[in-house]
Order: sequence, then C-alpha cells, then structure tokens
Amino acid sequence: MEALKRKIEQEGVGVGQEVVKVDMFLNHQIDVQLAIQMGQAFCEAFRDDQVDCILTVEASGIITGMTTAMAFGNIPVIFAKKGERRNIGSDVYTAEVYSFTHQKSNVIRVSRQYLRQGMRVLIIDDFLANGAALNGLISIVEQAGAVLVGAGVCIEKGWQPGGRLLREKGVKLVSLAIVDAIEDGRLIVRKDG
Ligand code: 5GP
Repeated sequence: MEALKRKIEQEGVGVGQEVVKVDMFLNHQIDVQLAIQMGQAFCEAFRDDQVDCILTVEASGIITGMTTAMAFGNIPVIFAKKGERRNIGSDVYTAEVYSFTHQKSNVIRVSRQYLRQGMRVLIIDDFLANGAALNGLISIVEQAGAVLVGAGVCIEKGWQPGGRLLREKGVKLVSLAIVDAIEDGRLIVRKDG
C-alpha cells in the first residue's frame, strides 16, 4: 500500500537492527486517515472471503481492526486481552504468546461468548515479526472451531521468519508493507511487496 510505504520511509525509524518504530503514526500517535485507508485495503484484499468478524490483540491491533471492520460494513471486532484480567471471567480461550517488543510471554484471552464455532474470522495486527502473536490468535480460532479466513498485517518485517512460516502453512496472509532491513536507522521498504 503506497501511502503506508511512503509514511514508513519518511517518518519511521529503525532502532538497532531489529525494531521498527512507527510511534508517530501507528503505535502511539495515530494517523486516523491512514488507519482508515489501511482498513479499506484489508477489506479489498478479503472482500470475497465472507468475513464475519475481525480478531486482533490489544493494544495497537485494535486500531486497524476497527477501521477494517468499518470498511466491511461494521462487522464485530474481538480483541484478545493480555495478562491476568478479573473482568473477562474464566470461560475463555487462551494462548501463550512471546512478545517480541517486551521480551516476555503473555497469556492472551478471548471470551467464548464472542468467538463462536463456524464464524469466519479475519485476523488483523499491526506487525508481523516471528509470528508469535498471529499463531496465538490462530490457535484461539482453532480452539473455538471457527474458520480462519486469513490474516492482515500493516507491517511485516521481512528479515524475521513469521511471514514465510505462515505462508508455508497455507495461511492467506496480506501485508500492506514489508520492511526488509534497517540501515543506519533508516527503514528499507520493499517496493513490490
Ligand atoms: P511477532 O509475534 O510476530 O514476533 O511480533 C508481532 C507483535 O510484536 C506485534 O503485535 C507487535 O505489537 C510487536 N512487534 C514486533 N516487532 C515490532 C517492531 O519492530 N515494532 C513494533 N512497534 N512492534 C513490533
């Protein structure tokens, strides 16, 4: 998606060799117009897949989860909650997810009340790195007996294996931009990705 690629190139920053920092438009301050465009792009990519609901994980996934849901005509968004929560109850699906950015494991939880057998689910997240977050969400879809339509991520980090592994598994994966490398703090965005 050209607008996102331009934004990453112009404003994004590489931290060390591993971390893509896009706090200025996605992870802290939000460019709502761009988020709406990203939602429309995901909707376009999965238009023929009869999506019933969006599944994402807090916090940043909720942004494009919501704009994608609006683009589909206001379908529900379910977001997995991280960590111990008293207000979600015990009737939940869970998965353990190692957080790349926080370098620790989180249990993510989704109430059985909202994710039901047979629902056609599109997973949306902000980043794809090693694939832990998406695999955790896929496990929750499977536990629910729901149908995984595919996954959409705003930014895939091309040097980490998550994207390749998911495609090898046959998941329909759509990345709106792929960052291939960090060079002296600059982000190298794939032109044809
Ligand atoms: P994965 O689970 O695929 O290893 O990493 C994806 C998750 O970690 C995303 O939910 C995202 O929040 C976070 N993440 C991974 N790499 C980065 C990064 O370079 N920058 C930011 N902002 N978040 C990242």
